[in-house]
Amino acid sequence: MSGHPAVVMRLVASAYCVAEKAGSIVRKVLHSGELGIVEKTGANDLQTLADRLAQQSICASLSRRFPKITIIGEEELPAEEVKEDLIENGQSAEILQKTCPAEYSSLKEEELVVWVDPLDGTKEYTEGLLDNVTVLIGIAYGGQAIAGVINQPFYNYQLGAGATLGRTMWGMPGLGAFGFQLQEVPGDRRIVTTTRSHSNKLVTDCVDAMEPHEVIRVGGAGNKIIQLVEGKASAYVFASPGCKKWDTCAPEAILRTVGGKLTDMHGNAYCYNADVKHMNSAGVLATLRNHEYYISRVPQSVLQALRSD
Ligand code: AMP
Ligand code: MG
Ligand code: MG
Repeated sequence: MSGHPAVVMRLVASAYCVAEKAGSIVRKVLHSGELGIVEKTGANDLQTLADRLAQQSICASLSRRFPKITIIGEEELPAEEVKEDLIENGQSAEILQKTCPAEYSSLKEEELVVWVDPLDGTKEYTEGLLDNVTVLIGIAYGGQAIAGVINQPFYNYQLGAGATLGRTMWGMPGLGAFGFQLQEVPGDRRIVTTTRSHSNKLVTDCVDAMEPHEVIRVGGAGNKIIQLVEGKASAYVFASPGCKKWDTCAPEAILRTVGGKLTDMHGNAYCYNADVKHMNSAGVLATLRNHEYYISRVPQSVLQALRSD
């Protein structure tokens, strides 16, 4: 590859190392035993010290190296000096060596938007469902998710000591997806994955309407997209507001890279420009294959209740 990588490749290479650092912060806070839990809008909408420190680490590290990029993080934090030990300066050499897809090779910093979920699956994190937890860094250009990095800090944790803890996946449409083995659900089985802690009647009605062979209820938007690309689930169905742009940007980029799709319940794409509203008000439907089938099953009641933007 060229001696001077494109801005977006340098950004992804940084985001990779920054997501790993955030993952290590998330593990460290858990092991300290002091989670520092704060309720945001209620008992099912939590923030911990890990959410706060990981966001500080990600946003400060990226904005130092890429000062003109718009970075939008989930947590509202007081503006304060970020401690030097939270800063990550590394860049993945492997990513820097990849060839940038031609359409993105001359993008400028000021044209890029980064959506950051420092800890996705916070509720599950506080309950010890550790493999549900991910760190999400999504990169958007022209309203589209064009690259995503997902760190899963506790991947392999059930294997105990000896196993390497944590992994990082990334993907860019037109370039490829890395850090996992793409698998599909065998046969034509419809395995629907959905929320475990933010359910309501619309959500369950919509899941039922898919006529699933099996329903899995787990935490985290990142975690559910991992299930789709690793052959554990066929569709992620969430017919409710609640997910935000930082929940879906990185996952959508990786899913699209491997031929999947993420839309609202009407089948419309979400836009990731800097000025969009954060809430994905018309729900989330994500699939690796057969998106049209799932869209065709969405009940009228859901379509009426959840308007596209
Ligand atoms: P879940 O599948 O319930 O883990 O949700 C995926 C992501 O969307 C997580 O980051 C949740 O915090 C967020 N989310 C979904 N529904 C809600 C809600 N009703 N209130 C707050 N956050 C939500
Ligand atoms: Mg989240
Ligand atoms: Mg979060």
